[in-house]
Amino acid sequence: MPELPEVETYRRFLDELLLHQTIVQLDVFDAHVLAEPEAALRQAVVGATVTGTRRLGKNLFLELSTGRMLVLHFGMTGDVGAYRDEPDRPRFTRVAFELADGLRVAFIDPRKFGRLRLADSVADFQRQKKLGPDALDLTLAELQTALRGRKTLLKPLLLDQRLAAGLGNWIVDEVLFQARLHPERVAGSLTPAEVAQLHAAIGLVLTTAIEAEARYRQFPTSFLIHAREWDAYPVPGSEAYKHCPTDQQAIVKKYVGGRATYYCPVCQKEQ
Ligand SMILES: [Zn+2]
Repeated sequence: MPELPEVETYRRFLDELLLHQTIVQLDVFDAHVLAEPEAALRQAVVGATVTGTRRLGKNLFLELSTGRMLVLHFGMTGDVGAYRDEPDRPRFTRVAFELADGLRVAFIDPRKFGRLRLADSVADFQRQKKLGPDALDLTLAELQTALRGRKTLLKPLLLDQRLAAGLGNWIVDEVLFQARLHPERVAGSLTPAEVAQLHAAIGLVLTTAIEAEARYRQFPTSFLIHAREWDAYPVPGSEAYKHCPTDQQAIVKKYVGGRATYYCPVCQKEQ
């Protein structure tokens, strides 16, 4: 599932292709991914120049010279691509934006849970969707305020997009592992030092993931993500990924708030 790091990678790709370019044509191959009437989308996009790109959590915004924003959400399997000639169109391209020089930018989505919609501004969209600040912009003070006095478990609270936009399931597990905090700690019980560790870990995990362009296999071996067995472990034939990189304890998998959660029972004490 495209999480914040993937969407940031998509944003950089689109920024390179689309900034200051004019969209001359919109091709809709499957209207299922449109959250707006096709005519409204066409009117907002065709003839408009892309004046900027933004990201808030897992939402990507194209600022249009018409004053509107095109919002891309990638659902379960969304991706972006580019092609020139029809035979090269990526499989599962649902919508394509054609530029004046003939390049086409594709919104690709095999499972079609992604959506394209319009918004008046990022702030407007944020209010409507009740999203907190982007997880990369979340300040220590904001995090302190969000946790203070809360009886909720730490993991479900961090997943709540009103606290910060873009903290998804594996990201929260990795953040808690790096901060050495148990996912079932009561949020309000964290000491100021622990909140500071948590804040630093959010920055570390997101920055690492963005720098690796969301290629999980390239993450440092000190990351818990390898225990999720999504991909071959960096050291082939090794079973090490099932164990904590710090103390070689077996990683525990448990459901917390209904979500699969991985943690080290030694590094992340329940208290
Ligand atoms: Zn450990």
